[in-house]
Amino acid sequence: MDYQGILDEVMAAVWPLIGQGRVANYIPALAAVDPNRFGMALATVDGDLFGVGDWRVPFSIQSISKVFTLALTLARDGDDVWRRVGKEPSGNPFNSLVQLEYEQGIPRNPFINAGALVITDRLLQLTGDARGVLRDFLRAESGNPALDFDPVVAVSEAEHGHRNAALAHFMASYGNIENPVAEVLEHYFWQCSLAASCADLARACGFLARHGQRADGERLLTRSQAKQVNAIMLTCGTYDAAGEFAYRVGLPGKSGVGGGIIAVIPNRCGLCVWSPGLDARGNSVAGVEALDRFTTLTGLSVF
Ligand code: GLN
Repeated sequence: MDYQGILDEVMAAVWPLIGQGRVANYIPALAAVDPNRFGMALATVDGDLFGVGDWRVPFSIQSISKVFTLALTLARDGDDVWRRVGKEPSGNPFNSLVQLEYEQGIPRNPFINAGALVITDRLLQLTGDARGVLRDFLRAESGNPALDFDPVVAVSEAEHGHRNAALAHFMASYGNIENPVAEVLEHYFWQCSLAASCADLARACGFLARHGQRADGERLLTRSQAKQVNAIMLTCGTYDAAGEFAYRVGLPGKSGVGGGIIAVIPNRCGLCVWSPGLDARGNSVAGVEALDRFTTLTGLSVF
């Protein structure tokens, strides 16, 4: 398949949408990002890489990090993870508090903030350095040793992190945060602040296209666990828009408020698109459209 030609065609088609939507403005570092950016990359399971636009420009990965922390935790903990976090779509915004009380401090899934905080808590327990393990994993899988945190974003996340702090303390009141809350929040804010490009992330999610096998051939997840992570991406990866995303794109995907979205085509490739303008539910407007166009043009979806 002529991936480069398809990416060029996708970018031309979404051009009018670039800059539409609203850039995340809960922290100054994200509010300052140019809304007119657009990049898209595709990394095949055999190591070929294609890209268009700003595909080599690092951006704030934000909630895309939740896929990798889940995989790293699942690899160590197996099914025990599911004692502390569910796997059902929430139908609520990613930073919502409402369901936690009914569910006794057990978040609906690992891709809303509450669930991701539980995963970070567990990864911290298992490794002693959740954010460091995450950064090293992304460096190894992307092949980019310069991939790193953005300290300005991390500090700013902490300064404006009242809602995440509320979620973490609330879960701690049910015994579902086991490290000191401040430490868990610190690791979570730093994990969100990692900066990576579309090229980095398309490569980094390759292990999900390779059924759990890392770039060097080593196995991170069993085939079954890789299937599970992909399934949760499909049903929960774009928050309360996951139904719409599955309908339009038909791929496991995970978005972040930095405007990035990763998507996986099992057996074939990892994809990443970035454009900072977000819709009301926190997903990139041009990004979702680009993935929609991509699967429509190629016929490559999981359906
Ligand atoms: N740092 C953001 C937060 O915790 C991440 C959310 C997101 O990307 N959806 O609110």
